[in-house]
Amino acid sequence: MDGGFLPGTDALMVPKTSDGRVLFAIPWHGKLLAGTTDTAVPAADYEPQPLPEEIRFILDTLSEYLNRAPTLADVKSVFVGLRPLVKPANAAQSSKEVSRSHVVEVSASGLVNIFGGKWTTYRQMAQDGIDKAIAHGLLPAAPCRTENLPLHGAHGAKEGFGESRLSVYGGDAEQITALEQSDDKLAQRLHPDHPYTYAQVQWAVRHEAAQTLEDVLARRIRLLFLDAAAAIAAAPDTAAFIGTLAGWDETRVRRECENFVSLAKQYLPDIDENTPAN
Ligand SMILES: Cc1cc2nc3c(=O)[nH]c(=O)nc-3n(C[C@H](O)[C@H](O)[C@H](O)COP(=O)(O)OP(=O)(O)OC[C@H]3O[C@@H](n4cnc5c(N)ncnc54)[C@H](O)[C@@H]3O)c2cc1C
Repeated sequence: MDGGFLPGTDALMVPKTSDGRVLFAIPWHGKLLAGTTDTAVPAADYEPQPLPEEIRFILDTLSEYLNRAPTLADVKSVFVGLRPLVKPANAAQSSKEVSRSHVVEVSASGLVNIFGGKWTTYRQMAQDGIDKAIAHGLLPAAPCRTENLPLHGAHGAKEGFGESRLSVYGGDAEQITALEQSDDKLAQRLHPDHPYTYAQVQWAVRHEAAQTLEDVLARRIRLLFLDAAAAIAAAPDTAAFIGTLAGWDETRVRRECENFVSLAKQYLPDIDENTPAN
């Protein structure tokens, strides 16, 4: 939803919701990201769908805390992720009580498996995975280097990037600005309501291994997650532009566009306003 629902850069956490969990509202790329819910599913799905009562629950809960009560019409995009949790055998806890810690196991074939885990502990997961492989004689013994390994884009002058439109690129931001300054087309926006430019698309294709229209609009820039209708509107021109860089023929451009639009439609909120919260 629009960032105006929670002005500023601070996130909001509701520490105890009616279902005993926490709920977040986080300023993100100029919009407000709200969630999460926690619904157990029997099987993993590549594109899990939100339940109407989950959307209703988020809107109802946040209406007590935001500038004004958000309605379904304010929701620009809805998406769902599945969290892999490792549940001890015979444990009867609900998912919110199951540990978020990761577990490393080596199967009989020698495959090292890392189950569960969190984004914030990915370096610990890497270290534990490497250490386990060494303990099983699968790698020569050496200390795991992750602790001091900078991420791509890491830059000594991190304050210099501030809240700028291109700050997520870190040290690469200057090169994208240079692209925008070199060519009017590259400075153009993909959609008038969003700051993403064709320079960012070119960067994604040439330097970030983007292979599909979905890679660009969902995973390199975050337009699909911020505004699904805008992503759908931007799809044809963006696909045509990627086509010129990647050598796609007309059939491929059309297919990329169709595939993306059919996926993006699932991100449009589509529930009855009267759905009760769970
Ligand atoms: C509801 C929820 C809440 C969470 N809360 C927290 C939290 O508070 N703190 C925390 O630390 N962690 C949290 N996590 C866990 C965290 O999100 C994950 O640990 C983290 O995102 C894993 O990162 P990843 O890069 O391994 O995988 P992902 O983030 O899943 O990234 C994988 C990417 O690959 C893409 N992809 C998949 N298949 C293909 C393909 N064939 N071609 C191209 N791309 C493909 C996917 O679209 C995705 O973008 C939460 C997870 C969920 C679902």
